[in-house]
Amino acid sequence: MGRSLAGPAAGGESSRWAAVLHNKVANMNDKFQIKTCPTCGSDQIRRAVRGITRKYKGQTYTVPKVGFYDCPNCGEKVYDHEAMLKIEAHSPKFQSILDVAEQQIREGKGIKHEEFWRGVEAETTKAG
Ligand SMILES: [Zn+2]
Repeated sequence: MGRSLAGPAAGGESSRWAAVLHNKVANMNDKFQIKTCPTCGSDQIRRAVRGITRKYKGQTYTVPKVGFYDCPNCGEKVYDHEAMLKIEAHSPKFQSILDVAEQQIREGKGIKHEEFWRGVEAETTKAG
């Protein structure tokens, strides 16, 4: 099971990881905290705040100041829920949804709140 905390794969995987991590956080009743690496068991894993670069459908994008756990022993990176949301919000996938919404508003059509989130959900549940 250790591998289940591994860093997310590119693209749509992230929302699934976010859900998994969200459940874990809720269950822990405490702040998200990692003392040992879920992959190699090293206690060298520590909190890092860094800009990260990811890829979505071949398109590279950067997310500034993401907080995550970084294991110097095996290179594992563990992102908490907050980090996942931040990464998601910067991804071209999310941006494209926002662009459509904006365009519709500009055209005077407007977009209903529920429609917007249905679009987000449709996008984020596509994977897996
Ligand atoms: Zn490790």
